[in-house]
Amino acid sequence: MIFRDNPCFPHPESTQISPVLEFICCSFCVEATRVLSFCTIGGAPTAIPRLSLLLKYEFEGKDGVCQHNYQTTFSPADSVCIDILNSMSKRKVAHTFTTQEFLEGAGVRLHRGFSYMPENLFDPFLLFDDFSSENPVDFMAGFPWHPHRGIETVTYILKGDVEHKDSIGNAGVISKGDVQWMKSGSGIIHQEMPKGSSGLVGFQLWINIPKKHKMTAPNYQEYKAKEIPEFEYANGIVARVVAGPAEQFKGPVTGDDVDPTYIDFQLKPGAELSVPVPSGYTSFIYVFDGTIQITDSAYKAGQIVLFDRIGTEVNLGAKSSGARILFVSGKPLHEPVAWHGPIVMNTREELVLAFEELNDGTFIK
Ligand code: FE
Repeated sequence: MIFRDNPCFPHPESTQISPVLEFICCSFCVEATRVLSFCTIGGAPTAIPRLSLLLKYEFEGKDGVCQHNYQTTFSPADSVCIDILNSMSKRKVAHTFTTQEFLEGAGVRLHRGFSYMPENLFDPFLLFDDFSSENPVDFMAGFPWHPHRGIETVTYILKGDVEHKDSIGNAGVISKGDVQWMKSGSGIIHQEMPKGSSGLVGFQLWINIPKKHKMTAPNYQEYKAKEIPEFEYANGIVARVVAGPAEQFKGPVTGDDVDPTYIDFQLKPGAELSVPVPSGYTSFIYVFDGTIQITDSAYKAGQIVLFDRIGTEVNLGAKSSGARILFVSGKPLHEPVAWHGPIVMNTREELVLAFEELNDGTFIK
């Protein structure tokens, strides 16, 4: 709930608002702006003028960090608007996508959830691939030497192995339950070679890097399965927390620009799940086993559900088959995207320079 659970709001009861609230909160301004416009259009007319008058907000962004001060007074007459706020906390489905088969690398047959789109709907996420297959022929050709610049790649493996090597001397194997979070920064040339005689279950997510950090040094965060917190909710849902918070746990991946959350949820038949997500962040789920129910619609394995950015919680349930999903969220960058192959920059000139550097051998800094 925006008011009840917002840490910036010290008063838990939505209809018993304290006379004076003072708080500082960057996410709230986004919500307040939306709510005021929503209320003005179709909300509760008697409560709105008063709330609009009382709710004063200032935008004082400094180095990308909001420093908003609010001081306002609520009366019982404002409770209608407060309830509207609370009802808006549940995120709605914005778009759904079904993975499509692609040939990538040296001939890996994979299933792509999304990649380049002019609207940049998944900002800051750029691409999602599911390269799972029971047949090694589909993946054994692998992804031989190729460059990356300007992005992070997140490789999460649940069955089989991916051997990797790179141009700066790193080498290793990502195995069952492991994650590799690779920040290409200014540039890296690597190869990723899937192995698995009895099949592979694995996913790769690309995350954009903001302009100010695109040309920083490459960096790896690689965590073995035992380093990734796994816990069970009271209703039997099992969560593996790769990044971000979940209950009292926190994923091991840190220091990222987009404040990512990446959680692997296993839901028993009929189990219901509510995942908090900061207002304004992009969030999506990928269903890779079973079927998920969200309000009146069902989403089956191979589907991606992208949620609206309004609201602070994602609610879903598993159908009778149970389900397994990846839940991903992150802060949008709102920057221009210039993308060609494995390199993603902000301008065409930066792209051209990157490929010139590849040709003349100056790509690696
Ligand atoms: Fe790669």
